Amino acid sequence: MKVVTADQHQIDPSLISKAAGDIVKKLRKAGFDAYIVGGAIRDLMLGGHPKDFDVATDATPEQVRNIFKGSRIIGRRFQIVHVRAGREIIEVTTFRGHHDSPEETTAQQSKQSSKGLLLRDNVYGSLEDDAARRDLTVNAMYYDPVAHTVLDQMNGVADIHARLIRIIGDPKTRYREDPVRMLRVLRFSAKLQFDLESDTEYALDDCGALLSEIPAARLFDEFLKLFLAGYARSTFGLLDQHGLFQYLFPEPAHALSKSDEARKLVLSAMESTDRRIAADKPVTPAFLLAAILWPVVEHRYKMLTKAGEHPVPAMHSAGQQITAEACLHIAIPKRFSIPMREMWEFQPKLERMQPKKLKDILASRRFRAAYDLLLLRRDAGAELSEACDFWTEQQVTHADIVGTAPSKAEYEAPKRRPRRRRRP
Ligand code: ATP
Ligand code: MG
Repeated sequence: MKVVTADQHQIDPSLISKAAGDIVKKLRKAGFDAYIVGGAIRDLMLGGHPKDFDVATDATPEQVRNIFKGSRIIGRRFQIVHVRAGREIIEVTTFRGHHDSPEETTAQQSKQSSKGLLLRDNVYGSLEDDAARRDLTVNAMYYDPVAHTVLDQMNGVADIHARLIRIIGDPKTRYREDPVRMLRVLRFSAKLQFDLESDTEYALDDCGALLSEIPAARLFDEFLKLFLAGYARSTFGLLDQHGLFQYLFPEPAHALSKSDEARKLVLSAMESTDRRIAADKPVTPAFLLAAILWPVVEHRYKMLTKAGEHPVPAMHSAGQQITAEACLHIAIPKRFSIPMREMWEFQPKLERMQPKKLKDILASRRFRAAYDLLLLRRDAGAELSEACDFWTEQQVTHADIVGTAPSKAEYEAPKRRPRRRRRP
C-alpha cells in the first residue's frame, strides 16, 4: 500500500472535521480500523473546504451503530450509518468487497440485475477491496487523522496532480454495475475542471442507455447534485456532449437539439443559477426545472389551444401532462413541481397583460419567479419585449403590493378548519 506522508500531501490537519477525527479514534479504540475517505480528502488536497466528511471502517453497520449512540443505519442498495456529532452528520461506510463468490452471499448483500446492475452492494471486505470498489481514483484516498498520512492504493494523488478523472477498474463494467457513476464522472470533471482519462471517457458512449435502469427518485437526487451545486452550465455541456442529458430529460433534450431558442433558454437558466449560487443567493430547483421543461410545455400548450381548448385549462393540462411524463425519469417532488407548474400557468397570463387581473397577479407569491422566466424566454428569442416592459413598469408603479399577499385566484388552498379563536 502506498503511503503518502504529510509533507507530500500537504493537507492542513486543522481543516479536518474534529467530529470525523473523533469517530475514527473511537472506532480504533473499539478495535476496528478506520479512515477519513472520499470527497473531503480530494477537496483538501486541492486546497478547498470540504462540505462533508465520510468515514470508512472495517466495522459492520451493526457494530458501528452499537458504538455510537443516536446513529442510524440507512439505505438498502448501499447500507451506511449516519453518526450524529452535534449538528454534523458523518456517513460511516463499511469497507466494500468484491462480488465474485455469489454462493457465499445473501440477497441482502449482493444482488445483480441481468444487465449487470448492482441492486445490492453490501458485500464487505478489506481496505484494499474497498479502494478498488470506489468510483474514481481521486475519491479513493484514505486519510489517517492520527498519523496524518494518506493511503493511496489507486494512485489518486498522481491523478490529482495530473488533474484527471479516472474511473477505477474496467470502465464499462463499473458503469454497468452502477450507471450513476457516469453522471458522477462528468459532475466531478465539471466541478474540478479535470480532464477525463481516455478510457473513462470512451466507455461513456456505449453505456448511456443503462441510465434508464436507475430509479427516478435516485435520478432526482443526482439532478440536484449536477445542477444545483454552482456549475450547472459546464456540467450540462459535458452531459450534452456525451449524449447523457437525454436520459434525465428525454423530451427537453429532443427540443434542445431542434431549437436554438430552447437551448438558449436552458443555458441561460443554468447560468443564472450558477451566478446566484456564486453570489450566495438562494436557488430553487423549481425554477431550473420550469426552464428546462418549458419548451416542451409550450409545445403541448399550443397543441391543446389549436385543438380548441381555452388558454387557462390548456396550460393547466399541458403542465400536468409534461410533469407526469418527466416524473417517469426524474421523480420531481411535489414541493418543487407545484411551484414549477404555477410559473408555467402564469406565462399566458403575463403575456396577455390584462389590467383587470393586474393587482392579483402582482401580489402573487409566484409572480417574481414567473416574471424571471418571462425575461429568460424573451432573452432566448421569444417575442415578449412588450410584455416584459409592461410587467417591469407595473412593478415600479405598484411596488407596495408586489408579492405581498397571495392572490385569491391563485391560492384556492384546501379549506382549513377555522382556527379556534382565543377568548380575550
Ligand atoms: P461530494 O460529497 O463533494 O459530492 P464525494 O466524493 O464525497 O463528493 P459522495 O457521494 O459523498 O461523494 O460519496 C462519498 C464517496 O463514496 C466517494 O468519494 C466515492 O469514494 C464513494 N462513492 C460514492 N458513490 C459511488 C458510486 N456510485 N460508486 C462507487 N463509489 C462511490
Ligand atoms: Mg461526500
